[in-house]
Amino acid sequence: MTTIRLGFPADWAGFRAAARALVAANTPPGQITWLVGDEPDLFADNTPPPANDAPITVPRRFVDLAETTIMANDPERFGLLYGILFRIHQGEAALLHDAADPAVHRALMLAHAVRRDIHKMRAFLRFREVTDDGGTRHVAWFEPAHHILEANAPFFVRRFATMAWSILTPDRAAHWDGTTLRFGPGATRADLPEDDRFAECWRVYYRAIFNPARLKLSAMLSEMPRKYWKNLPEARDIPELIAAAAPRAGAMLAAPPTPPRPARAPPAPVTDPPTTEWEALKRQAGACRLCPLWEHATQTVFGEGSTTARIMLIGEQPGDQEDLAGRPFIGPAGQVLDHALRAAGLDRPALYITNAVKHFKFEPRGKRRIHQKPNEAEIETCKFWLDQERAMIEPALIIALGASAARALFNRAITISRERGKLIPLNGATSALITIHPSYLLRLPDEAAKRREYAAFVRDLRLALPYMA
Ligand code: SF4
Repeated sequence: MTTIRLGFPADWAGFRAAARALVAANTPPGQITWLVGDEPDLFADNTPPPANDAPITVPRRFVDLAETTIMANDPERFGLLYGILFRIHQGEAALLHDAADPAVHRALMLAHAVRRDIHKMRAFLRFREVTDDGGTRHVAWFEPAHHILEANAPFFVRRFATMAWSILTPDRAAHWDGTTLRFGPGATRADLPEDDRFAECWRVYYRAIFNPARLKLSAMLSEMPRKYWKNLPEARDIPELIAAAAPRAGAMLAAPPTPPRPARAPPAPVTDPPTTEWEALKRQAGACRLCPLWEHATQTVFGEGSTTARIMLIGEQPGDQEDLAGRPFIGPAGQVLDHALRAAGLDRPALYITNAVKHFKFEPRGKRRIHQKPNEAEIETCKFWLDQERAMIEPALIIALGASAARALFNRAITISRERGKLIPLNGATSALITIHPSYLLRLPDEAAKRREYAAFVRDLRLALPYMA
C-alpha cells in the first residue's frame, strides 16, 4: 500500500501533487491509503509515495470539480477523485461528461453540497463586536457542514477588509488583522462574545421585511434551514412572527386601504427580494436604528453611483434636500461638488458617492431645519454601513470630503488643512485623498476667498484622475 498524508482536510495542493505523481507512476486507486493530519496509519508495511517526475495532462474540467469536491466532509473523497483521475488517464477521456457514472455522479453531488455550504456561510455568518485592550475586533461562529473555511475566508477578507475579524469553526479558525489572513486551531461556541449592538439591527431589519401574507414555511426553511438559526440574532423572532402570521395576514386583508404616509413616517417594509448586493445593503440601512438620528430624519440616505467605481467619495451627512429626496449630494453643496468634479475631469456617474452618516442631523428652527455636525459616537456607529459600502465597492481611491468623512476613514480627528491634497496609502490596494467638504465653499464670506478655495478644491480632485482608468 502507498500512504499519502495530507496536511489538512481540504489540502488541495497536497492532493494535487500526490495525485499527479501517483497517476504518473500508474498506481491503481486500490493501492492507496489517504490520511489527513495525524490520522493513524494502519498499514505498517506501506511503500513511500512516488516522486513526481513525469508530467501528466489533467483536464480543466477535472480540476474544477476536484477543487470543490475535496472540501466535502466525506472520508472517501480523495479516493473517489483519484479513481476518476486514474480512469481518465487510462483512456476514459469523456468520463466527466457521463453524469450517470456512479463515481462522477457522487463527485458532482458532493461539489453541489459544498457550493451550497459556501453560499450559506456567506449568507448566515454574523459578526459580533468585541472591544478589549487590543482594540475592536469582530468575531463570528459558524458550523460548516464541509471543509470550506480556507476557500471562503478570502470572500470575507474582501467584504470586511477594514475590520479585524475572526471566524471560529469547530475544526479551524480564520483570523484577519486588516493585513494578513491566517488560520489556526478550531474553537467552541463558548468562545463567541456576547450579543452586540448590531444584533438588534438585524432583528429590526428582519421584522421590517417579514411579510406575513407571503409566508411559505417550507420555502423559508429550505432557504434558511433551522440549523443556522442559533447564530442569527433575527431568528429569535421567527417563531413569534410565524405564529402571528395568519392573524396578521387576515387583519391586513380586512383593513381598509392604507392612507398615504406622512412625510416623516418610518420606511415601509419592502417585500420583493433585493436584486443586487447594493440594494440589499441599502434596504438593511433603511431599517437602521443603531443611533437616535433616524428618529427625526425622513429616511436613510444611502450611497449611490457605480458599484464598480474605482473612486468612492465620502461626505459628512445628508442635508435638508438630500433627506427629503433620499439621495446624497443633490442640494447646494452637491451642485458645487458636481461643478468641481467636472472641472477636475471626473465623471460623477462613474463614481460612488456616500456619506459618513446616513441620517440628517438637524436642529428645528421655526420652519427651517438647521444642519448640525454629527458627533464622534454617531460617526463611529454609522461607520458600520460605510464599511459595508467600502467592502462592496472595493475602490482604488477614497476621497474624504471634510473632517467628518476623514474621521470615519481614519478613526481619528484629522486637520484638513494639514492633510489635504496628498495621496495616503490605506490598507490593501486602496489610497485615500483628503480635501474640504464643498459646503465649506458656500460658507465663505467673500468672493475672492471662494474663488481661491474652489480652485484648490479642484486641484485636490484632479489628483484622483489617474484612478479613473
Ligand atoms: S445615522 Fe447611521 S447608524 Fe444612525 S440610525 Fe442612521 S443609518 Fe443607523
